[in-house]
Formats: sequence, structure tokens, C-alpha cells
Amino acid sequence: MNKLDKPIKLLVVDDDKVDREMISRLLSKSSSKYSITEACSVDEGLALYDEGDFDVVLLDYRMPQRSGIEMILEMRTHLRNYGSAIVVLSSAEDEVLATKCIKAGAQDFIPKSEVSTSRIQNALTHAHTRFELEMKLKESYLTSKKIAERDSLTGLSNRYVFDEALNVAVANNGRSEFKLGLLLFDIDNFKHINDIHGHDVGDYVLIEIAKRVSNALRESELFSRIGGDEFAIMITNLSDIYHLNNIANRIISAIQKPLRTKHTLLNIEISVGIAIHPDNSTDSKELVKCCDIALYRAKTKRGNQICFFYPEMQEQLIRRYEIESVLQKAISNNGFTLVYQPIINVDSRELTGFEALLRLKDNDNLKCYPDEFIPIAEQTGMIIEIGEWVVKTALQQLSFWDKASDKPLTMSINLSAVQLESKNLIDTIRSCINEFDITACNIEFEITETALLSSGELIVDLLQSIRDMGCRIALDDFGTGYSSISHLVFPITSIKLDKSIIPLSIDDNNGHILLEAVIALANKLKLDIVAEGIEEEFQLDFIKRQGVHRAQGYLFAKPMCHSDMSKMLKH
Ligand code: C2E
Ligand code: CA
Ligand code: CA
Repeated sequence: MNKLDKPIKLLVVDDDKVDREMISRLLSKSSSKYSITEACSVDEGLALYDEGDFDVVLLDYRMPQRSGIEMILEMRTHLRNYGSAIVVLSSAEDEVLATKCIKAGAQDFIPKSEVSTSRIQNALTHAHTRFELEMKLKESYLTSKKIAERDSLTGLSNRYVFDEALNVAVANNGRSEFKLGLLLFDIDNFKHINDIHGHDVGDYVLIEIAKRVSNALRESELFSRIGGDEFAIMITNLSDIYHLNNIANRIISAIQKPLRTKHTLLNIEISVGIAIHPDNSTDSKELVKCCDIALYRAKTKRGNQICFFYPEMQEQLIRRYEIESVLQKAISNNGFTLVYQPIINVDSRELTGFEALLRLKDNDNLKCYPDEFIPIAEQTGMIIEIGEWVVKTALQQLSFWDKASDKPLTMSINLSAVQLESKNLIDTIRSCINEFDITACNIEFEITETALLSSGELIVDLLQSIRDMGCRIALDDFGTGYSSISHLVFPITSIKLDKSIIPLSIDDNNGHILLEAVIALANKLKLDIVAEGIEEEFQLDFIKRQGVHRAQGYLFAKPMCHSDMSKMLKH
């Protein structure tokens, strides 16, 4: 209780004047000093309580209009002044009543029949002590609750809180005309940041992102950190789902400003997945799954991508997993094969070489071709192992056919950007050349412009090493994508004109003009040209007139397995 020299501030609420006076009289005899304020009704008592700073409230249970218990409830739930202990007085010696008062928030209960100086004084003292203990308990409960609910690094709410809030919001949204939006985002290459710059920088990035995004959001938009570098936002009462796109863009621009660390400036990119209740699912767990799938999809595109969930995604994801596992099995069970498409000398129509194209063996059920599985192999890194197998197999085959032929034959092999970052590539090529006794200039590696763009500076050195061994390098799919002249000064020897820039009709004047210009450019740069996707005689005539010497396409042959190719070579 208070220090002895400080009077205890007591509020007595009792409609009975005689009772109030009796209490004052009894307390005046007590050893402690009291400063007593009196109220004759619950309403008056509440008004005084809200203003004053009382240590204890002594309250009559039975009063006209409103009872003491109503006053307790109001004091404990609505009013801002919580600092008082409460003792209830009543004429009824009722245990049930006592329990009711304690449950509502009182600390003690005295039957009026037992009222005496010492009884009141003890009750007031004990009530005050008990109240202080209760407050401490509550405080420590709130602290541990906060610890359990907060992410200690960013101060945001954690996954538990988010899941609970989402459950409640989804249940409430069931009857609403509005929609609920769920956004998940994570940092692209966060592992890279941790690996390269250390965990302190990683932590700093997370804290800074939490801050920036919090500032970009409204208070009603629940923002949580739900995993390592994964964040979630819930938006309720949505009338227009396009608003979600705006929010996602707001988040991206908040993060886009480079982040300054002690040693460097970091450019952070994120991927955002979005799912909507009830459109995508009426169940909160399902909704999170949908959002995860959308996030996953955004991640495969990389670089501040926003992706809304749509139902077909689920099937696509299942197919992706299926392909991933088929590729994995094919790596260990010799499940790949190569087909070879002839490359023809345009003037003589004779075979000059082949392009090796990858296939899955037993592909009847899956029906999956390189355009679909190569990107997956690249994203998962499996292309390194697969690509090595392709190089070895194709070069062994070349050696076999070349020895059987009286004219030199070439083998074109596709290399993906990911392979260009592999340290083993050069060694593999070198050892194949030696082992299979191949003339290096009969090997042509095909790389795409996108591979040149996405790889680092080291790639020029690597391509130069391939050139130094004597192999040729072709720029594949030229005419799609950038078709940048600057890429033609890489150590490349040839370009492959993509089938998309081969005119499909003889009347396509613009198409012919464009093709003519590209061919003229390549000729000027002294690059050898291979025209791909030649299906018609008029196309062949045209490229021939333009001075293209090599061509490939269904007009001559489709890709075929090695035994068919061997038969063709014998004729
Ligand atoms: P690409 O390098 O442009 O290969 C040419 C693609 O065009 C092949 O498809 C071929 O079958 C097809 N094609 C050939 N002639 C014609 C024609 O006259 N008309 C039409 N419409 N198409 C024709 P494929 O075998 O499905 O390969 C697709 C892509 O997959 C390849 O495009 C290449 O980028 C990639 N790829 C294939 N094998 C490998 C490989 O071993 N490693 C890597 N990294 N990529 C590969
Ligand atoms: Ca190719
Ligand atoms: Ca091509």
C-alpha cells in the first residue's frame, strides 16, 4: 500500500448515506490515513472514478438503478483508469455473489454484517496488494504474448498471428459482399545475399524491407513476416481486386530504392503472389496454398514479378513437379536420348552436319519436349549434368559418323546459359575431343542471345577458350529477342536465323526485306549463316539467292534417332 505519510485515496460508492458515514467513521479510527470521496450512485461513482486516481474503490453491491457488479464491469473494461483495487460491500452474505464480483474484477468482498475497522482496513490493504500482483501478472502475460506473437527481428506479427487473423477474416468474409486479398512476397536470391554479404546484412535487409513496406501500407492491412524471407499481407473489405495490383506495385517501388549497407549498395527484387477469397478458395488454408502457387509462379519469372493465382496454375504446378521428377529419374536411369537433325548445304543439298536435340526416352505418356523441359532443367540446375551427357553423347556420335564418311561432318550442340557458368564444361569438351579423336572445327556450339545477356563477364572468356580449342560458336535463334548487333562481336563464328524470321508466304514483302537485311549484316560481319525452319522450296530459293550456304528444316529432314540417321548416311 501507499507510504504511511501519503493518505490512501478511497472512493466509496453507496446509495445509503448512513452506510457511507459509518465507513468514514470506522476508517477514521484506523492506523492508516484515508482521503475519502463519496458517491451515491453507480453513475456518479463511474464519473468520479474516471477522473480521479483512486487506490481503492469500496462499492455497495445493491444499489437502485444499477448494481455494483455493473460498475465493476464498466471500470474493468471501458474506463481508462485501471489503477484501483475494488472491494465490494453487501448486506447479502452470499458466496455466489462474492464469486461473481471477484470474477468481474473485484479483489475482495465484505458482508456488511462483518464490517469493522480492522475488517475494512485489512480488506483494503489486501485488495490493493492483490491488485498490484494481478497487474504484474497481466503485464508479464502481455509481454510473453507479445514475444510469442511478434517476430523479434522485424517487430512484425508472426506466422501464428497471421494464420489466426486470416482464419477469422475468412470466416467473417463469408457473408460479405467484399473480397479478401492475400499477398505473399519473398526476396529473390535472399540466400545469395546471406551467402555473399553475411547474415548481418541479411538481417538488415529483412528489417529494412519490413520498415519500408509497413510505411507503404495502411494500418488496416495486416503485414506479417511468416518465414525466413517470406512476408504476408492481408487486405480485407476489397471492392475492387485490381487494388491488389496497386498494393503489390506500391510494395515493389518501396523496396526498389537501393539499400545501403556498410560496404555496398544492394538492389533488392521480390516476387509477389496474390490469391483472393472467395474467388480462389473459401478455405483459409487452401487460400494460402493458392497464394503460394502464385508466388512460386512469380518466382520462376524473377525480378519484381506479380502473379495472381488462377485455377490452371494448380495443374501446371503438378505438371512441373512431374517433369522435374521425370528429369531427375532420367539423369540416373539413362532416360535421355538424342535425335539429330541434318544441316544441309544449300547449293548441293548435301548433308554437312547435324544438330543434336535432346529427347526424353519413354515420352509417350508425358509428351514433354525440350521447349518445356529445358527451362525446368535450367531452373533446377539439372541442365549441367544433362548438358554434359549431351556433349559426350553427341561428340561420340560425331566421331562415329565422321569416320564412316568421306566428307567432314559437323555436330551442332546447344548450350544453355546455366551451362556456361559451369567450370567443368571446358574440361568435358577438351577430353571428348581427345578421347573421340575429333577435329575441333567440326564442333559448333549454339548459344542464345539471352544466354549472353544473363551471364556475367566471365562468359566471354569461356567462349574465347572454346574458340581457342578450335570449336565454332553459333548465335542461335537470331531474329528473336534482342537481335543486337553488339552480340555479333562476341567470339562467334556463325548465326542461326530463327524460323520465326523466315517468311511463311512468298508474298510477304516486309518479311523478305527484313530477312535480306539480317543476312546482309551477317555477311558483312563475315559470319557464317545457317537458316533454320526451312519448310518450303521458295524459302530455300530465297536464302540461296541471298548467299546463305547452310540450312536446316523439315524440307530436308525432321530430327531423327541415330539409327535412322545412320541409315540415311549409308545412302
Ligand atoms: P533450337 O535450338 O532452335 O532447335 C530447333 C528446334 O526447331 C527443334 O525443336 C527442331 O525440332 C525444330 N525444327 C527444326 N526444323 C524445323 C522446321 O522446319 N519447322 C519447325 N516448325 N520446327 C523445326 P526441339 O527439338 O523441340 O528443340 C527446341 C529447343 O530446345 C531447341 O531450339 C533448343 O533451344 C532446346 N534444346 C534442344 N536440345 C537441347 C540440348 O541438348 N541442350 C539445350 N541446352 N537445349 C536444347
Ligand atoms: Ca539450336
Ligand atoms: Ca534455333
